[in-house]
Amino acid sequence: MKTDGYGQLHIVATPIGNLADITFRAVKALREADLIAAEDTRHSRILLEKYEIKTPVTSYHEHNKYDKAYILAEKLKEGKNIALITDAGTPAISDPGQVLVDICKKEGILVTSEPGPCALVTALSISGMPSGRFCFEGFLPADRQAREKILASLEKEERTIILYEAPHHLKKTVSQLAERLGDRRMCVCRELTKTFEEAWQTSLYDAVKYYETNEPRGEYVLIIEGIDEAEIFAGEKEKWSKMTPQEHLKFYTDKGIDKKEAMKKMAADLGCSKRDVYRSLL
Ligand code: SAM
Repeated sequence: MKTDGYGQLHIVATPIGNLADITFRAVKALREADLIAAEDTRHSRILLEKYEIKTPVTSYHEHNKYDKAYILAEKLKEGKNIALITDAGTPAISDPGQVLVDICKKEGILVTSEPGPCALVTALSISGMPSGRFCFEGFLPADRQAREKILASLEKEERTIILYEAPHHLKKTVSQLAERLGDRRMCVCRELTKTFEEAWQTSLYDAVKYYETNEPRGEYVLIIEGIDEAEIFAGEKEKWSKMTPQEHLKFYTDKGIDKKEAMKKMAADLGCSKRDVYRSLL
């Protein structure tokens, strides 16, 4: 296939919240491109203005991702360099970018990357959950049957599971996960890199309880342990629940651990607060 004279498609990662999270290479690629394809041009305008990027912008989103991909591929074949950005993070990860990349590769157009933030990696890195092996499910499908199929496949998943979720679907997703997977350790990551960033290590059952009275707000990444770790967690929980609070405390103090530290460990074992442990010992 003749590709001489073709331009390049640049997959440019942009911030997931904090506008300072952009690389020098990303800014350079955006400045030097002939055209920027953006998911939401108004949203991206804020970033482009902050970094004084004057490159023309066109839209590339979920609803024009096939037709527009061919139009952009033609421009690339004419020798134009195009930078693709989406609303947050790395284009093509749970957003429309993948279709354009695939078409370009099939047309012999060079695709390169200016890497940077990605919500799933950011969340996993601060979750404390096993990260050696993980599976990323993106958003669970809205369609009931398709969703059921994926939930069923996750029941026996051994790797750490990572999901994206919008605030208005969070309660339902957490309840369905708890129903299907049982009680497992999880980390609810929200508003990453923003002022109210949180990475809350909890369990699926406790999260269900929490969201009965608390309205989810912001953007979420859910990290849930795989079945192997979950079985250890369930076994551990059973062991501690068979002990009285005094026996549990003695278990640690007999090892020479001071009372304050022992109560901290008890809270972690039981997945409750230190105040709850203190009350149970009274
Ligand atoms: N391409 C993006 C990436 O690199 O992660 C993801 C795009 S996807 C359409 C948007 C979803 O990513 C959100 O609904 C949320 O689940 C997650 N997300 C993006 N930014 C986030 C943030 N600052 N904190 C938590 N989750 C975030």
